[in-house]
Amino acid sequence: MVDELICDASRVWILGQPLICRFCANDVFLPYHTYKNVEKPGIDVFFVDYTAICLKCGCATQFGDPSGPSPDGTDYIWALEQVLLNPPEPEPPIIRTVDDKTLRAQKSCLSLALQLLVQEGIIENAVLPLVEEEQNENLLHLLEPGVYVSSEEIPAEKCLVMALSQIVKHRLLDNDKLHFIIEHESYPGIESFLWNHIE
Ligand SMILES: [Zn+2]
Repeated sequence: MVDELICDASRVWILGQPLICRFCANDVFLPYHTYKNVEKPGIDVFFVDYTAICLKCGCATQFGDPSGPSPDGTDYIWALEQVLLNPPEPEPPIIRTVDDKTLRAQKSCLSLALQLLVQEGIIENAVLPLVEEEQNENLLHLLEPGVYVSSEEIPAEKCLVMALSQIVKHRLLDNDKLHFIIEHESYPGIESFLWNHIE
C-alpha cells in the first residue's frame, strides 16, 4: 500500500482491485496527480485526484484515493497500491578511498592544526599523540564534545575539518585567508600556512 502514486509507468490497485483500461483492457498506466477545486467559485479547497493515462491507448481514467479509517474506526486503510514497471536501480554504495599521499598530507595538516590549537590554549596537549596513533574517534570527541559518531571508521579528513573549524571559530588565524587556501590550494597550501603560525 502506498501513501500516494508516483508518476511512472506502473500497475495500480485500488482497494485490492487492479485498475484496467475500460477501452483496451490494458493494465499499465501513467498516473498523474490532478486537483479539483471543491469550493468553486468560493475559497480554494482542493482535493487531490488521480488521472491515469493508459500506456496502450492513451485513454484517461480518473479516480480518487478512497483511503481512510476503517468502518469501526480502529484502523486506517490505505487503498492504493502501485507496482512500477521499471523499478529504480538501487544506488551503488559510494566507496571513497584515500591514497597514501593524501592521507599523509591530511595527517600532517591535522597535526599542525592541533599544535596551533594547543599553542593557543584551546585544547590539551594530550591530543597530539592521537594523530600518529590514528585514534580519530577519540580525537573527534576532544575537538567537538558531544558530536555524533556513527559506527563507521572516522577518516583523518573529518578530524581535520573539525580542527580547522575550531581555528576558524576562535579566530586564531585570518579566516578569509584560511578559507581561500582551503578552497584553492588544498593540502599543500594549508600545511605551509599552518606551519607559519606555529611558534
Ligand atoms: Zn487503454
